[in-house]
Amino acid sequence: MTPARKTAPKTSVAAPTAPAARTAARRKTTPARWTDGVEGEPHPLATDPRGDRAPLGAHVSIAGGMPQAALRAREIGASAVQVFTKQANRWLEREIDTDEATAWRSAFAESAVRWSCAHDSYLINLASPDPELRTRSIASFRAELRRCHALGLDALVSHPGNFMDERASGLARNVDGIIEALEAEPGQTQLLMELTAGQGTVLGGTLEEMAALLEALPPTLASRVGVCLDTAHVWAAGYDLREDYDALWTRFDDTIGLRRLGCLHLNDSKAALGSHLDRHELIGEGTIGIEPFRRIMTDARLAHVPRIIETPKGDEPAATDARMLTLLRGLATP
Ligand SMILES: [Zn+2]
Ligand SMILES: [Zn+2]
Repeated sequence: MTPARKTAPKTSVAAPTAPAARTAARRKTTPARWTDGVEGEPHPLATDPRGDRAPLGAHVSIAGGMPQAALRAREIGASAVQVFTKQANRWLEREIDTDEATAWRSAFAESAVRWSCAHDSYLINLASPDPELRTRSIASFRAELRRCHALGLDALVSHPGNFMDERASGLARNVDGIIEALEAEPGQTQLLMELTAGQGTVLGGTLEEMAALLEALPPTLASRVGVCLDTAHVWAAGYDLREDYDALWTRFDDTIGLRRLGCLHLNDSKAALGSHLDRHELIGEGTIGIEPFRRIMTDARLAHVPRIIETPKGDEPAATDARMLTLLRGLATP
């Protein structure tokens, strides 16, 4: 439960085709410049986020301070948001004090954002065979959890690690690291392990391996852990969303269980099916193409799963993200 989450009126949750949503979804033209919008107001192209059935948003920057994420979410018309709570490519840790937590909560209090998550640092490798790196990773991962708890975020998205030496022992180290961190940092934020493209020695590139990771957790902790599915990752891992869309979800349900799907990362891909390369692309402009996203946006099985885009932002981040969200909302509207 996050203070950022506003309880949306029942009608707006049940009515993904609210009048404002329909009107904005019909506007297909892209503005020449983002500054065409009124400063401080949501851009007219950003569809009314209160019409979203499932929270929909983007990974946004926290440059200028964490509360700035709320302004960026509003600019792009988001009802969900993902952030880094520190510099993702550095080991330097930080804690969230009461003032920062209060500022975050009040910045989101009046926003349309009703689901928020953090993505953890890229450096963390809980599966590492190097004791020093693994110890450092566990400490860093615990700090990620503490920041999420302080901010009241709904979820922390985390990539499984690199086994480096041997897959089975790497998976065991990954599981033990998760257990150690979750036991040391009790809280409400759900940990969502993200399926990977399966590049090199990275774990979590198959549904079966992710299922094995989850099954190795003790029942007392299992309820705190779910899965994040990134369309670009599973595509690169070899799951053909274009030609065999239903097979992915049937297999997901059989191995992991759809009830454990806590977040969708909606990204098209620059990479080929099965290439194991993690290269995000704008929705509908990559190798996946628009059709699988249309199916996801209208798939009743996924109707309530929060969705976040991590697509390239180009020179005009807000305008590009707003265009992507409007595109996705348009797909959801028959
Ligand atoms: Zn992702
Ligand atoms: Zn990725």
